Amino acid sequence: SPLVAGIAPEKLTKLARREAERYASRRPKTRKALETGASQFLDGVPMHWMKDWPMPFAMLVHSAKGAKITDIDGNEIHDFCLGDTGSMFGHSPAPVARAIRAQARHGLTYMLPTEAALDAAALLTQTFGDFRWQIATTATDANRFALRVARAVTGRRKVLVFNGCYHGTLDDTMVELRDGKTQSRQGLVGQFTDLAEGAVAVEFNDIAAVEAALQTGDVAAVLTEPVMTNSCMVLPEAGFHDGLRALTRKYGSLLIIDETHTISSGFGGYTKVHSLNPDMFVVGKCVAGGMPTAVWGMRPELADRFAAYNATRAPGHSGMGTTLSANPMQFACLRATLSEVMTPSAYKHMEKGAERLSSGLARSINRHGAPWHVVRVGARVEFICAPGPLKNGAEAAHAHQPEVEAAIHTALLNRGCLIAPFHNMMLVSPATTKRQIDRLIAAFDEILDELF
Ligand code: PMP
Repeated sequence: SPLVAGIAPEKLTKLARREAERYASRRPKTRKALETGASQFLDGVPMHWMKDWPMPFAMLVHSAKGAKITDIDGNEIHDFCLGDTGSMFGHSPAPVARAIRAQARHGLTYMLPTEAALDAAALLTQTFGDFRWQIATTATDANRFALRVARAVTGRRKVLVFNGCYHGTLDDTMVELRDGKTQSRQGLVGQFTDLAEGAVAVEFNDIAAVEAALQTGDVAAVLTEPVMTNSCMVLPEAGFHDGLRALTRKYGSLLIIDETHTISSGFGGYTKVHSLNPDMFVVGKCVAGGMPTAVWGMRPELADRFAAYNATRAPGHSGMGTTLSANPMQFACLRATLSEVMTPSAYKHMEKGAERLSSGLARSINRHGAPWHVVRVGARVEFICAPGPLKNGAEAAHAHQPEVEAAIHTALLNRGCLIAPFHNMMLVSPATTKRQIDRLIAAFDEILDELF
């Protein structure tokens, strides 16, 4: 039978079966706890994404600190998933834990700002640039609100997104290119509107397609990650971001950069490291050290345009904001993270470790002659079970090897290393040690020894 990502299917099946059994056999307590305690949840999990892990059943976490997780059976795991970026700066960074303890005595939510809020605003500007900031609780919401503003000030309906993108569960972006046309994504639960009315999808790195879409005059904003990170990673080709900026200016569309994952790039995110110049900036997940928080900001000139729009807006609800957003705990954690955790020296450590990891994985791939490749964006590393580099979302979707990935993930976990589900993503935190990285490389190498 034909090879899968260069692997003989029998070898893959054998590995997958054995590793699933090994995972289960080391977790009797977890299994028992789930059997008795999980059935009150819909489908047995508190959030349905948790069914998408490749293990035979979920891991129940006892505790996590730095770059380590311990499950309730006492298995110690080196964590390279880090909550899929929420804990990119390590679990419970000490300054954030201190800030939480201090704020816990002074109230948790009041719909009023604090002095820490003012400090956080100054820190946000110092870190990311001159934007007028708003606080949200998830990056999904931050993108949703940024799009509202873009549509409001331009009076245009559509957002341009890239095929294969992910910006959270806001419906506005849930389109894809199918048969060469923008269509609602298949699989959306209970979605009945034609999302193509408010969105256009083109391929990443296709600047001519971007221009063709912008020429219609319908596009309020281009919303993009600097690097596509939510399928297999796709890097921008030389000149792509300059092209996006020039074309959005030319056709009067706004440029929104979503840094939720590419904040791994270095201090200030990809935007600062590569001197992008967006009209709006969004970042979530790790920005408050793991406390649910996202921020979005607009350039001062855009804030003026929005003020002019607001002056003519009919009274009534804006359709933006949520009650628990901008709460004092978020500000305490934002301030602690921005001042003491998300620092240039932390990034230096992350970058160095990630370089060690990506070159170690690439060496192993080459040694085994696997038709695979490795991509790195600062602290973020991914091995892709297909040749590269990938150019766009269609190629990235095609490069996925779900069966191979699932087997490898469980095998890595049984060797003490957790990587992100859905794709082969690994993060290096300020707490991640060389030893942990070398252990992951060795585990990966051992698995490839068996598969190739
Ligand atoms: N933007 C990007 C680029 C993301 O990757 C994600 C989540 N993976 C989001 C936004 C949404 O984040 P959240 O789920 O925290 O709302």
